[in-house]
Amino acid sequence: MFNKREHLSKLKDLETISNQIGAGQDFVQGGGGNTSIKLNEELMAVKASGFLLSDLSTDQAYAIVHHQDLVKFLAENSAASDKDYNEAASAATLTEARASMETGLHAVLGQVVIHCHSAYANVINCSTKAQDLVRELFPEACFIAYRAPGYQLSHLISEQAKGAKVLFLQNHGLVISADDATEALELHAKVNRQIKDHFALKDFPEAKLQYEGGALRSESEFLSKQLRKHADDLSYEFFSRVLFPDQRVYLQNNIAFSNKLENKINIDLKSYTVRYKTNEREALAIEETLVALFYIMQQIQANDLELNYISADDSQHIDGMDSEKHRKKVIGQ
Ligand SMILES: [Zn+2]
Repeated sequence: MFNKREHLSKLKDLETISNQIGAGQDFVQGGGGNTSIKLNEELMAVKASGFLLSDLSTDQAYAIVHHQDLVKFLAENSAASDKDYNEAASAATLTEARASMETGLHAVLGQVVIHCHSAYANVINCSTKAQDLVRELFPEACFIAYRAPGYQLSHLISEQAKGAKVLFLQNHGLVISADDATEALELHAKVNRQIKDHFALKDFPEAKLQYEGGALRSESEFLSKQLRKHADDLSYEFFSRVLFPDQRVYLQNNIAFSNKLENKINIDLKSYTVRYKTNEREALAIEETLVALFYIMQQIQANDLELNYISADDSQHIDGMDSEKHRKKVIGQ
């Protein structure tokens, strides 16, 4: 049984970390990232799928899950399907809100867990030297090779990362596991600061939109400049080379190279302007993803590192994932 009043202070902690991480476009873009807190030996509150971290409060945007059930499922099933995992996750969920697809990794880690898509950590994670860089800069951290979000990633973490406090997820993001909310936020800030300092990374450029004749247009000067810089390369193929899963989720099949509104994302190659044909929430999610993509590419190249793309098979796998479709649908409403 879940009685909210018994757990208010921990739910408040979850709200605090979620809103704080969710406020930074450098840490989460669109609906990315998720957080959790163990309420007791049995129950865990975890961000619900389809919500933004900034939506989370003690009243909404989280699911309550029997975390031990998921730990057991992952320990007993080394070759399950996404479907089995999703079913196990829904069976373990007490609330109507659907738990984040990353619930499994939250279940197997510490009391408070932050998973974000830090653009700084992804400068490491999306480079060909990711594993060496993690070993050199964060010897205590755990490097997790690329796996599809959901079952595969949760399962690998359940095997390799028990007890780890900092996890770098190749071509994906960062996970912080801590004993309480304060420690989690401090460790998150420390790791990101250390990466920024080491690589002399520029501040993350703000993604922003403006209404123009009823449609939404990108206001990001950075994005416009990057499009101009890559003018000779820009093609469907350019955007299909995937550095991180959300790139695939938000960009694949949604781009038109056009000065009209022919698709969700319309890139005008004459003025290097991006116009969106969708609601403001989804347009901002896409804009943040585009800015993150170009920022990560730019900073990797500025550090004489090379880009490491996920394989074509792994990219296609993301297209078929029900949990990603669900997330996109809720964000798109
Ligand atoms: Zn993620």
